[in-house]
Amino acid sequence: MRLEDKLYLIGFKVDEVGGSHLAIKDKSVCLACEMKQCLYICPCGVYEIDEIKNEVSINYDACVECGTCRVSCDEIDWHYPRGGFGVAYKFG
Ligand code: SF4
Repeated sequence: MRLEDKLYLIGFKVDEVGGSHLAIKDKSVCLACEMKQCLYICPCGVYEIDEIKNEVSINYDACVECGTCRVSCDEIDWHYPRGGFGVAYKFG
């Protein structure tokens, strides 16, 4: 089974009131970042370049809370979603 197929099996409860549990501390740092590892390291493609705004955008509602981005970049402000929100694994 492909990763993309497995991701469809995961449920999410998006915290639309509390908002994103992920943030970038200083987006100006992203512009100067040569590696832009956040774009490649996330298994869910949460981080993307917004061509219009010329900045990294965060699609937090697809995050599986693996923590990979947290250790890959010091500019990412990461915390778990509020209780009752976020990813819901079927068998975990
Ligand atoms: Fe992607 Fe994992 Fe970071 Fe969520 S915690 S944004 S799934 S790398």
